[in-house]
Amino acid sequence: MKKVKHLIVLTINIAFAFFISVNVNAQENYKGVSKADSLRTYPGGPSYNVKTYPSQFKRTHPKNVILMIGDGMGTAHIYAGLTANHGDLFLSNFHYSGFSRTQSSDHYVTDSAAGGTALSTGHKTLNGALAVDPQQKTIETILEMAVKKNKATGLVSTSSITHATPASFIAHQASRGSYEDIALDFMKTNFTVFIGGGYKHFHDRKDGKDLIPELEKKGYKVLRSMEEIQKVKSGKLAGLTADEHNPRYPERGDMLPQSTHKAIDLLSMNPKGFFLMVEGSQIDWGGHQNDTRYIVDEMLDFDRAIGQALDFASKNKETLIIVTADHETGGFSLLDGNMKTGMVKGAFTTGDHSGVMVPIFAYGPGAEEFSGMMENTEVAKKIIDLLQLKK
Ligand code: MG
Ligand code: ZN
Repeated sequence: MKKVKHLIVLTINIAFAFFISVNVNAQENYKGVSKADSLRTYPGGPSYNVKTYPSQFKRTHPKNVILMIGDGMGTAHIYAGLTANHGDLFLSNFHYSGFSRTQSSDHYVTDSAAGGTALSTGHKTLNGALAVDPQQKTIETILEMAVKKNKATGLVSTSSITHATPASFIAHQASRGSYEDIALDFMKTNFTVFIGGGYKHFHDRKDGKDLIPELEKKGYKVLRSMEEIQKVKSGKLAGLTADEHNPRYPERGDMLPQSTHKAIDLLSMNPKGFFLMVEGSQIDWGGHQNDTRYIVDEMLDFDRAIGQALDFASKNKETLIIVTADHETGGFSLLDGNMKTGMVKGAFTTGDHSGVMVPIFAYGPGAEEFSGMMENTEVAKKIIDLLQLKK
């Protein structure tokens, strides 16, 4: 009898452990190399028109900063996108560029949590950690500093908004997998706009709390579709357009460029200026899957979001746009391509991140600061200086 009871308890435990692990991994199911070799080549397709923007700006210190992070975006990802778009990108408008060294405090190859933390705080930390130092002490982020200066602030991603990259700007957690604690951290800072996935981490929680009414009490319009989000004219906005991650492009439509446009619209109403982080989350996932089409689709979607930022910044003239990556993914290289058809033949050396430097591009007042080779932490430090967030 006792033996049977033990067996039942053991079975329940195993089932529970399995349930937990499946649950945790559901957020990470973009990993895993696709088997089909045909996925390494993008066959070519239609292109979009790229505008040319003037580079004349008002002042040496920007009032607004838009930091755009292509997760996993190395030079090959950019060049694959450029080739697929028949030779041009919105990114070609950026006149200053440099390279960022991405190592974390404990690994030669960083993950997105430590990479995000370097960009959000100017500090190196352990892989997996979000805006805490290697001793787990909280580090203030650019976004939090900007809130203190009464600037408007925002986060936009196609992944769950609680995923490592956006989370590194707002949450302080030793482990990037603590999605529900990360959602709780969203309640602690009075920021203006966030748009991404991750509704369930606010609503369907293991602790039974529902953070949606709390968000509403804090003045956010909580909206679940791009249609509703597009109609918002002012105020605080929590756009949670998917339970977890938004689907890949083109299934999710123009969610990223539209969200970027809407966030800029709302944030630019603040006379003190704004800080916005926009992430092209799934360039990384195409890299993990060694899928060139996935990379190209996501890269071009991210580039169109860059176009939205340029539309605003070229007229506003007080806005600095920085485009960079947290690390490279896939050890991606290009073996062939055709600027006329857009065909790109890719090759990969890993299903994970690699240790190579990643590019930085800058447009706007202060852009010249972002040239040469620098640590990823310098990017954050320069933004803090340029926005005068420490003074
Ligand atoms: Mg990311
Ligand atoms: Zn990754």
